[in-house]
Amino acid sequence: MAGPTIKVGNVEMIALTDTASTRDPVATFPSSTLDEWRHVPGVLNDEDQISSRVGTTGIRSGGKLIIVDTGLQLPGAQLLDDMKAKGVDREAVDIVFLTHLHGDHVGWNMSDGKPTFPNARYIIPRHEYEHWTDEDFKKNWPHIDVQVTPLANLDILDLVDDGYNITDEVSTMETPGHTAGHTSLVISSGGEKGFVLGDVCNNPVQAHFTDWCPVFDMDPAKARQTRHAVVDRLEAEGTLVSAGHFPDPGFGHFVRAQGKRLWRGV
Ligand SMILES: [Zn+2]
Repeated sequence: MAGPTIKVGNVEMIALTDTASTRDPVATFPSSTLDEWRHVPGVLNDEDQISSRVGTTGIRSGGKLIIVDTGLQLPGAQLLDDMKAKGVDREAVDIVFLTHLHGDHVGWNMSDGKPTFPNARYIIPRHEYEHWTDEDFKKNWPHIDVQVTPLANLDILDLVDDGYNITDEVSTMETPGHTAGHTSLVISSGGEKGFVLGDVCNNPVQAHFTDWCPVFDMDPAKARQTRHAVVDRLEAEGTLVSAGHFPDPGFGHFVRAQGKRLWRGV
């Protein structure tokens, strides 16, 4: 297994974890059966549960320190401790990029009403921000006014469009379906490619069962279409992927073996 850091050309990716738990596979993916899960090596534990990590990806590129997604900040959450242990200084973070605005991706934006990353600009895909901050929609998602809209009020938020270059080596790619404006990051450096997946996939099983949608996909048909397109491309290009919900450290490749696509962690 790779350590917590891995290189894509000159870019460094750092695997960070806020929390991890297990959950029921069939309840999470309602179109699946336990029998199907049992035929995929390495995805179930001894109790037939799947692991579900809430991860953040640190990126060092072009002199900037970027973190992608900010976890859940439940009691006992460890993101800040994990950052410290891996030499990622909270105060040195230049940019916080949010793939989407589900509560398990924005939880450490603010701490006690102050930005957790005091020297950072926060970046949110414009389409995603507009969707979640619609007054009617927002009523059902109280975390938005705790963790998201304060960023705009403090004037530390930038809304960006598809294909925005965060650095010369890191740019945004809209991958909608999981949420309306869900966005991944494309890394390209020194002839190598990397990809921060966000929630295009929730579990490594989707390398093969690419049609399966977790209950968290807000537009399952669109999510399925996006997932096929993205994973096909990542497989074809041999891209190194950082997947925040996959088991720690969440780095790996989509590869083909014996006619089946699978996730091969590194
Ligand atoms: Zn998520």
